[in-house]
Amino acid sequence: MLILMSSDHTKKQLADVLARVKKLKLTPHVIPGRQSVAIGITGNRGALDPHLFDALPGVKDAVRVTKPYKLAGRDFKHGDTVVPVGTVRIGGPGLVVIAGPCAVESEEQLIRIARAVKKAGAHMLRGGAYKPRTSPYAFQGLGKKGLKMLAKARQETGLPVVTEVLDQRSLGDVAEYADVLQVGARNMQNFALLKELGKLRKPVMLKRGLSATLDEWLMSAEYLLSEGNAKLFLCERGIRAFSDHARNTLDLNVVPAVKELSHLPIIVDPSHATGVRSRVAPMARAAVAAGAHGLMIEVHDRPDQALCDGPQAMAPSDFETLMGELAAIAAVVGRGVPG
Ligand code: PEP
Ligand code: MN
Repeated sequence: MLILMSSDHTKKQLADVLARVKKLKLTPHVIPGRQSVAIGITGNRGALDPHLFDALPGVKDAVRVTKPYKLAGRDFKHGDTVVPVGTVRIGGPGLVVIAGPCAVESEEQLIRIARAVKKAGAHMLRGGAYKPRTSPYAFQGLGKKGLKMLAKARQETGLPVVTEVLDQRSLGDVAEYADVLQVGARNMQNFALLKELGKLRKPVMLKRGLSATLDEWLMSAEYLLSEGNAKLFLCERGIRAFSDHARNTLDLNVVPAVKELSHLPIIVDPSHATGVRSRVAPMARAAVAAGAHGLMIEVHDRPDQALCDGPQAMAPSDFETLMGELAAIAAVVGRGVPG
């Protein structure tokens, strides 16, 4: 339910409407607008009757919101969400590029690659310290030691760091070291974890689940927003389809779809979406052309020795070339690439 206040409503009338919502054991969210104020309501299990509110003094209208997500939808928020991470702005006019290795393997490896991606123009550093692997025998990440290496790399380069939180047990440690906490595809519907992340006041990047619909993805975003964490952006990383020519199928269609339905920023990860190094640059270029707010790209200077995802890692020199191409494409779609 969305309550629209008339443009000449008084403070008391607004307070009375909020009190009525709370009396019904529902949660009001005041949304200031250009003309007037709207109040979004969450917490109801079924549909609410608009007549509960539309006759109250100062109320212009009360309308049902038909989408299952509320706070993530455009009805509930005017304008686009911009997530600040240090001096980086995700969702603003500048294209944000996150780059780095799939996994933190050693301090030397991470700092070498961090310096290379910084030189090429990346705005943030990625690297997993806790890795969700299909096989329990595969490298699982360096854990807390890896987080400390990320902090060192941030200190060396000034780049904010993005790293995955796998579970509630490691959440405290990851939140201590990360600038952005990544929710991986496999955890998109780990609702217990999402609730905990919603209580944090740190930026979260929510990747799309392995075969999640857009509604399911936005409902997961809703978990974070309804707990009060609005520092949230989405990352399309390809979905499981019937094709066997690529690791996943990059759903670029979802970029304009998200932008129509939600105010949340959306970035694209062409590395996991393709799984093949030679296809990362073409899909990165396409994502920017489609209007993505940013990209996350895996880069490794010794991909044959990488402990995870070597075949999809770009060489630093190719990444640098790509950054130049992205600046040209970004300009065509009205976006810049901050230096
Ligand atoms: C990653 O970005 O390191 C990762 C594991 O990606 P995803 O969750 O999209 O598979
Ligand atoms: Mn990876």
